[in-house]
Amino acid sequence: MEILDILIIGGGPIGLNCALEAQKNNLSYRVIEKGTIVNSLYNYPLYMRFFSTSEKLEIDGIPFISTAPKPGRQEALEYYQGIARQRNININLYEKVEKVSKENEIFTVETSKGKYSAKNVIISTGFYDIPNLMNIPGEDLPKVKHYYTEPYPYAKQKIVVVGSSNSAVDAALETYRKGAEVTMIIRHSEISKSVKYWVKPDIENRIAEGSIATHFNAELMEIKQHSVVFKDEKGELQEIENDFVLAMTGYLPDFDFLKNSGIELQGDCLNPLYHPETMETNVPNLYLAGVVCGGKDTHLWFIENSRIHAEMIVKNILSE
Ligand code: FAD
Repeated sequence: MEILDILIIGGGPIGLNCALEAQKNNLSYRVIEKGTIVNSLYNYPLYMRFFSTSEKLEIDGIPFISTAPKPGRQEALEYYQGIARQRNININLYEKVEKVSKENEIFTVETSKGKYSAKNVIISTGFYDIPNLMNIPGEDLPKVKHYYTEPYPYAKQKIVVVGSSNSAVDAALETYRKGAEVTMIIRHSEISKSVKYWVKPDIENRIAEGSIATHFNAELMEIKQHSVVFKDEKGELQEIENDFVLAMTGYLPDFDFLKNSGIELQGDCLNPLYHPETMETNVPNLYLAGVVCGGKDTHLWFIENSRIHAEMIVKNILSE
């Protein structure tokens, strides 16, 4: 079996960036991706707009031309998938990596379709595949969505949006504007400070004028077929009619996969252990890249600030 210099797990923006860096340095590599190219972006809300301007999302200095300063999902898909096509990136799609093990300095990577050998492995699997569950009764009902795509299914429906960061705020505003009756249930006392600065006044004004009913310091307790029960800020239970719940409660990296690969997870945020200058984990020659590095703190890394990981990793591999 061929022994690759690098096997890259995950074909998101940062996995692709690692591939480009390997290519530039004449290292043999392969990306294994369980969905389509930049699968997380493909599953984003259809009309989302990035908070980053397009030049901050560029990889390998390849210009990202967008019609507005901040590109939308479709432009980002065109950009990253276009790079994979034009640069002939070696990528296997719809193939899930299930296990990474190491023996005699060589990794064996087992997938849903086969087995690979590599001297180095980069895990760039992101955090968008596992919703951060509320673990309350009724969460498994079909009317509960952990991914929001577009507002049209919710016209004239009573919907509850749980959460107060960008995903929740975008979903609340979009569905409200398509005629949904929106109630936000927010654990904190205000809208998250990380909400895009040009969106924050919009949501705050809609809340202030009462267009979007909002309960701060509140917690969703139970979801029933036609209603939801929540604890309000006085600690009292309230039940309201409901057709759909958009649980925008965030997402988590696949901690089991990281642990099973031998990576140590530390502290309350389950931060994976890696060297900040090389991105090498406690397992020699096993690297992390991209937003997976933040553990539960998924606001720590984004495309903008994790683009540098590819260069750091390949530099370290070449120095060995
Ligand atoms: P991902 O893009 O998540 O890529 C990981 C890939 O790994 C996925 O394609 C996944 O299918 C694959 N994968 C996972 N497990 C396996 C497996 N076992 N086997 C094979 N493949 C696997 N960042 C910014 O810089 N600017 C923004 O404006 C911005 N906006 C965002 C908006 C939203 C709605 C979200 C959710 C995030 C946003 N981010 C933004 C954050 C971050 O940039 C993205 O999450 C980005 O996609 C991270 O890139 P990545 O390559 O690290 O991970």
